Amino acid sequence: MANNYDVIVIGSGPGGYIAAIRAAQLGLKVAVVEREHLAGICSNWGCIPTKALLRSADVLHTAQHGKDYGLTLEGSITPDIKAIVARSRGIAHRMNNGVGFLFKKNKVDIIWGEARITKPGEVVVSKSTKKPVEPVGPVPKNTLGEGTYTAKHIIIATGARPRALPGIEPDGKLIWTYFEAMKPEEMPKSLLVMGSGAIGIEFASFYRTMGVEVTVVEIMNQVMPVEDAEISALAKKQFERQGMKIILEAKVAKVEKGANSITATIEKKDGTTEKITADRMISAVGVQANIEGIGLEAVGVKTDRGFIAIDGYGKTNVPGIYAIGDVAGPPLLAHKAEHEAVICIEKIAGLPNVHPMDKLKIPGCTYCHPQVASVGLTEAKAKAEGRDIRVGRFPFVANGKAIALGEDQGLVKTIFDKKTGELIGAHMVGAEVTELIQGFVIAMNLETTEEELIHTIFPHPTISETMKESVLDAYGRALNA
Ligand SMILES: Cc1cc2nc3c(=O)[nH]c(=O)nc-3n(C[C@H](O)[C@H](O)[C@H](O)COP(=O)(O)OP(=O)(O)OC[C@H]3O[C@@H](n4cnc5c(N)ncnc54)[C@H](O)[C@@H]3O)c2cc1C
Repeated sequence: MANNYDVIVIGSGPGGYIAAIRAAQLGLKVAVVEREHLAGICSNWGCIPTKALLRSADVLHTAQHGKDYGLTLEGSITPDIKAIVARSRGIAHRMNNGVGFLFKKNKVDIIWGEARITKPGEVVVSKSTKKPVEPVGPVPKNTLGEGTYTAKHIIIATGARPRALPGIEPDGKLIWTYFEAMKPEEMPKSLLVMGSGAIGIEFASFYRTMGVEVTVVEIMNQVMPVEDAEISALAKKQFERQGMKIILEAKVAKVEKGANSITATIEKKDGTTEKITADRMISAVGVQANIEGIGLEAVGVKTDRGFIAIDGYGKTNVPGIYAIGDVAGPPLLAHKAEHEAVICIEKIAGLPNVHPMDKLKIPGCTYCHPQVASVGLTEAKAKAEGRDIRVGRFPFVANGKAIALGEDQGLVKTIFDKKTGELIGAHMVGAEVTELIQGFVIAMNLETTEEELIHTIFPHPTISETMKESVLDAYGRALNA
């Protein structure tokens, strides 16, 4: 039967498209249903277009500091927000075309429309009811359309969308979600960012570098609340030096809208309140899973705190139905979605030695200036678990390459199990740490000890030497500090 598959994947984000390609590689007949854009949030509205915006911010920052490098730049350097956004959108479209190409190359069928599971093994695809953020597309050629499709295995990879707080719902004009923040028509003069997780801080960093007056309000006692407290404190100091205003342990209680601005009432932990008026506000208080309208109730798939409940291989409680990526719970990261996709498909295909997801080894990166990256346990979490630990630290200010780059503000912190010497956490703030963290991720994956790291040769001069020095410091052997 033409409409019958081994695997149907609902959603073509990093979870869905990687699942489809891996399934095709393993000889399974596979189709992906997509209702809006190939490549999901990550390529269209998340990871990639934000990094394109932040790259423009980095170039602007470097140009503005040309003098520090002995360069005299004639005239003023002014950001052209229309051109910056056009570059970012162009890159997003290039990415989603790339996924279309990969599907074609791997002979993955694309079914264009909105999918709903009607019973185990059956998916009904109808015309999408979702109002697209941008004109849909480009819809790839030769896609299949509305109809009933069957498959032995159905993988739900429908992702997530912005969460809204009651009374402070984004309206797309004065109160933005990441969609509007990604493509402003003009640069606001002032901006209030509610929430300092990765999404909030990346936008705060972008707009501040562009010269916007930025205030960040965070309910917890540190910015980027999931990060190690020391790393977060150093990042905050740098943001404040750049002119960002950060209010911790405070919440946006009320927002009044004016003709072209908002006035927010901020309630602080000490009981005081402050009113802040800004041209625009970004609501960055997290995301919620797309679990509605896909037939979960019809087939009895269980959810847990708003996400589909799965085991370490992506299996739900209903045989033949799986979930991966954002819809299956935190951390809500593209590389977590991709890894879950591979595990899920390889288990379906019956490959030997498929390891379940180990969430402790998922790195997290925030591409603000300075960058922040981490993997494993924070110092506070390790202590809360009752672990006996050794902690090493090394500052960028003692690293030759960082000084040569003019990027001497940063810190690497490593956490070891005192008894076994196993690396159980690594935390970094500073230039290029989102690239460097992978060294520690590999080390943790191989269950590396301090001994092996100390005997690893790091190239000189590189910022990566701060990683080795941090390990040495944990054992009282730092050479350059
Ligand atoms: C601003 C921003 C920046 C980010 N930056 C990073 C980053 O730097 N690094 C990182 O790792 N992560 C980042 N993320 C998170 C990352 O984008 C997500 O974790 C990732 O996209 C999740 O992939 P997914 O496949 O689970 O879902 P998604 O990418 O959300 O894809 C789901 C797809 O399913 C489709 N769909 C939904 N319902 C249906 C249906 N019923 N029928 C058919 N199709 C359907 C949607 O149209 C969508 O294309 C960022 C997110 C945002 C918003």
